[in-house]
Amino acid sequence: MANMRAAQVSKRGGALELVERPIPQPGAGEVRVKVQACGVCHSDVFAREGLFPGASFPRIPGHEIVGTVDALAADVTGFQKGQRVGIGWNGGYCGACDPCRRGYTFGCATTRRITGVSLDGGYAEYVCALASALARVPDELAALDAAPLMCAGLTTYNALRNSGARPGELVAVLGLGGLGHLGVQFAAKMGFRTVAIARGADKAPLAKELGAHVYLDSEGSDAAAELQKLGGARVIVATVTNGEAMQAVMGGLGVAGKFMILGAPESLTLHPGQLISGRQSIVAWYSGVSIDSQDTLAFGALSGVRPMNEVFPLERAAEAYERMLSGKARFRVVLDMA
Ligand SMILES: [Zn+2]
Ligand SMILES: [Zn+2]
Repeated sequence: MANMRAAQVSKRGGALELVERPIPQPGAGEVRVKVQACGVCHSDVFAREGLFPGASFPRIPGHEIVGTVDALAADVTGFQKGQRVGIGWNGGYCGACDPCRRGYTFGCATTRRITGVSLDGGYAEYVCALASALARVPDELAALDAAPLMCAGLTTYNALRNSGARPGELVAVLGLGGLGHLGVQFAAKMGFRTVAIARGADKAPLAKELGAHVYLDSEGSDAAAELQKLGGARVIVATVTNGEAMQAVMGGLGVAGKFMILGAPESLTLHPGQLISGRQSIVAWYSGVSIDSQDTLAFGALSGVRPMNEVFPLERAAEAYERMLSGKARFRVVLDMA
């Protein structure tokens, strides 16, 4: 059997090493994908550190995968060899358990597969995935542009489209990093009156470039008070992982406003009085499943939403991972297999 190149973590917390591995064979219900590009996401820390139950090593991380179908198991329908597909965090679902039958396929009770965490992911030339984990990739979207939309894009797009906000309403995106720089673009393209909130006056030009109608510097101003001056936010999408930064803007919610938690801080202090008097809500948002990724890609292609990437070849995966961890990347790090 032929070999492929991959970057793997050999033991819990270990470094990413470039290795040769046998090209994997698709099992029941699976396709094999020849990877073109794979984003490096902060959640790849879960793979490296083995932070999920059932984690095992060696493990190939990567859950922002775009490539072409290279081989299919005999029982797979709906996909063909050569077709462009994406694979995200959700490694597929059964369609038969009670959560799946209720439409909550992200909460499938039987198929507990997390791409690049509980099974090998896309820091490799080939990867296998369940057909239920595949998103179709529009022709006009380059692989390097599509990859970050499979997780960072999906998470923000899917939260915004399920937020309940209507065109013209005030929607704030907290954070202008990997998620936020896509979230601001999506919010503006969806027709919301879009406010970007980040630290430092120097980010104002970037916010405007991404389509924000208003930029609020959370260091130089009271962002919550500024949101209230604008009428109060219908929705605040929090992409940061800092609980204090979240708390500082929550007071900017308007009547019946909704605060959506996308990043996971260790703890978060709430003010129930404000929530009760404003009939406000706080919800967390899981990224989504394959059809949500497919919709994200289609909307990205339609509206021109594109990630800003720093691109590394597979051989420099360890450097790419460190760059992502540094928090200094502008704004997504992507591995190019070509
Ligand atoms: Zn991710
Ligand atoms: Zn299920």
